[in-house]
Amino acid sequence: MIHSGQAAARLARIEEEREAGTLAVRYPEVEKIIVRMTHWQHGIKSIVRNRWFFPSSFAVFKMSCLSRDCVDGGFDMSRIITEMIRSRSRARTGELDCEGNESKACPAHVAYEIVIAYL
Ligand SMILES: [Zn+2]
Repeated sequence: MIHSGQAAARLARIEEEREAGTLAVRYPEVEKIIVRMTHWQHGIKSIVRNRWFFPSSFAVFKMSCLSRDCVDGGFDMSRIITEMIRSRSRARTGELDCEGNESKACPAHVAYEIVIAYL
């Protein structure tokens, strides 16, 4: 049942957001966070996505995987962003592999660029 799976995922996401709270509460020193991601799959550069986080945004930094066949995948930027805020780092670039498909690894990965502005 695809639909109930999606509903469950949506509920999990809402729960996660509620627990995380907003950026203003978790990281009051942060003005905004910009995450720029270039999505790669099978060596093909596909989509560039930008995600903006403001003080009113939920402090959930999990980005979904864009691969159509991906199961439970995604890119969790929480650890990287938390570390950056702790050290008041303003910019960082790197790469992440998709966490999805435990039995058959998802071929997607992203090159990311994170920029944080502080108040
Ligand atoms: Zn994936």
